[in-house]
Amino acid sequence: MTNVTEIFGSLVFNDTVMKERLPGETYQKLRSTIDDGEPMSLETANIVANAMKDWAIEKGATHYTHWFQPMTDITAEKHDSFISPAADGQVIMEFSGKELIKGEPDASSFPNGGLRATFEARGYTAWDPSSYAFIKDGSLCIPTAFCSYGGEALDKKTPLLRSMEVIDREALRILRLFGNTTSQKVISTVGAEQEYFLVDKDTHDLRKDLIFTGRTLFGAKPPKGQELDDHYFGQIKPRVSAFMKELDEELWMRGVLAKTKHNEAAPAQHELAPIFSTANIAIDHNQLTMELMKKIAAKHNLVCLLHEKPFEGVNGSGKHNNWSLTTDDGINLLKPGKTPYDNLQFILFLCAVVKAVDEYQDLLRISISSAGNDHRLGGNEAPPAIVSMFIGEQLEAILEAYEHDDAYSETKKEKMEIGAHVIPSFTKDKTDRNRTSPFAFTGNKFEFRMLGSSASVAEPNVVLNTIVAEELRQFADELEAADNFDKTLHTIIQKTVKDHKRIIFNGNNYSDEWVAEAERRGLSNYTTTPEALPHFVDKKNIDLYTKHGIYTETEMHSRCEILLENYGKIINIEARTLLEMIRKDIIPAVCAYTKELSDTAMSKRAFCSGFNVEVEFELVEELSELTYELNEKSKELAKSRKEAKLIVDDMEEKAVFYRDKVLAAMDDARKIIDRMEAITSHEFWPYPTYSELLFNV
Ligand code: ADP
Ligand code: MG
Repeated sequence: MTNVTEIFGSLVFNDTVMKERLPGETYQKLRSTIDDGEPMSLETANIVANAMKDWAIEKGATHYTHWFQPMTDITAEKHDSFISPAADGQVIMEFSGKELIKGEPDASSFPNGGLRATFEARGYTAWDPSSYAFIKDGSLCIPTAFCSYGGEALDKKTPLLRSMEVIDREALRILRLFGNTTSQKVISTVGAEQEYFLVDKDTHDLRKDLIFTGRTLFGAKPPKGQELDDHYFGQIKPRVSAFMKELDEELWMRGVLAKTKHNEAAPAQHELAPIFSTANIAIDHNQLTMELMKKIAAKHNLVCLLHEKPFEGVNGSGKHNNWSLTTDDGINLLKPGKTPYDNLQFILFLCAVVKAVDEYQDLLRISISSAGNDHRLGGNEAPPAIVSMFIGEQLEAILEAYEHDDAYSETKKEKMEIGAHVIPSFTKDKTDRNRTSPFAFTGNKFEFRMLGSSASVAEPNVVLNTIVAEELRQFADELEAADNFDKTLHTIIQKTVKDHKRIIFNGNNYSDEWVAEAERRGLSNYTTTPEALPHFVDKKNIDLYTKHGIYTETEMHSRCEILLENYGKIINIEARTLLEMIRKDIIPAVCAYTKELSDTAMSKRAFCSGFNVEVEFELVEELSELTYELNEKSKELAKSRKEAKLIVDDMEEKAVFYRDKVLAAMDDARKIIDRMEAITSHEFWPYPTYSELLFNV
């Protein structure tokens, strides 16, 4: 039996370890760096580094690494051992404050969007003391930010930390206006629910598309999908359960609050949800979770697929980003309380979120854009590409009352009627959850549901923190200058509801009617990544980010460039993979099968000219036709892939070309292949089928 309380955090250089191992004065200095961002002297850093090293060595580590989050959605690390030469050919183990604080990885091989000329390829990693160091694979991992020689952010953590400072500042101004003099800090909190697929590794390794792209590029529908709803929350199979158990333990040891695990809607799909924590830590922990999922799966001869849409025809994987604001003394600012109508501070924060989501729908949409997520959004299991909000009937009624100066009376809490009296009674949650909404208020937090499963959750939280901070800033400016606080507050609330209620939608977000209705309301609907991304650098967004010091204009252009380019690269890899599979395996296999059929027909006829060979004839005819079509389509795909490569200056044009020509040709080819698979003998078909992938663990 695992003693959870004993192993929890055992591989983390956390507060307890710091207190235990650092001299009192050093501990205090480190705390004030962590809590208040006070600069740290090299002397203090030296003491901390030495203590970290001693602790890490006791835990079996031999190396340290700056662990950072470049613009790739995965983490990067470069390991250095602690060894240092001593007399007589011996070594001693050393780790200095300088090495702890700063690293100098070559930045030229990370995506930088033209930010860093090669002659100054040097980049810097800088220690983020607010996220604890931990041990992984024999290395002391030090969470760091990553920037260019010129100080521009090349990673996902730097803007996040900047945005956390901004929301702290603006939210505190509002709290002071409401008479709160005790809270010192406002922290954005995040809980990221992670979906994933698990498939058998031997089966997986037979498919080049899964190996190179993380998704199946074709695959005929299995006889059974998710239509019976028998997988969701179903019993967990022993092999999966063993994986989950080990994952939980490895996460707990590294301080990750892994809490809930269950089967998801699609066959072979699962979910892990942690208990929320400070945004920065939650994001580091989500990265670590994704990494450990992959590693631990391999130990169980499984592969963890984090792609947003590994299989067509069953649900894809996303990530729900639960977000709230909490003070250092534990007040959740998005908690409505018993009488939300009278809780004006809450109503004002709610208004800030409503206004923010409406004014910056595009930024939210952009923050979750990727080639992978495009396959999922708008499908009938995922939110559409249109951003809207669900706030529940009660809050909607309250906002309406404010809008029209109507009286509002709190409805009584409804008791749940189950009809079996042996079941203890409880009251219904008034924020009855609309599962189709991309952005839903769920009791004391907002749940942003458009995120893709493989992506870092950093950017969506950069957006949330910044856009809400901006609205709070506007409110605070007005309220601080007001002669009559109550009256001004009332006007702000009323005006916000009037101007921004179009973003609130409580109906079915998956319906076609909503697409039409959203258009009438003037909401933006960027259905694909190449359409969404360029709006990142719209003037209003540059104004927002530069005003709050989240991104410089240069950083924004660079990021936009990186993401657009990345989109094309992904589709290019998929296209090359598909072409190879078609030419090397699919066409040869189908030809061999048609030969077998023809041979059969001929020998049947030779045996007795009256034998019926219609089946062989029909199959050979259809397969020959399909082979011809597939060959033509693959020529077209190869040609468009080459043409795409020729576009070098305009990344937007290039991304659009990849979408309209290359991806479109791949989709056409897929239809042909799926039909071929359906009528080709199992013995000849060169790849594991969906049935084998989805149902054999
Ligand atoms: P579900 O959305 O699946 O019904 P819950 O509502 O219980 O599940 O919680 C989902 C996630 O929201 C969990 O990761 C939880 O820790 C997180 N969460 C709860 N409270 C907050 C908060 N104040 N800030 C951020 N995340 C939170
Ligand atoms: Mg959820």
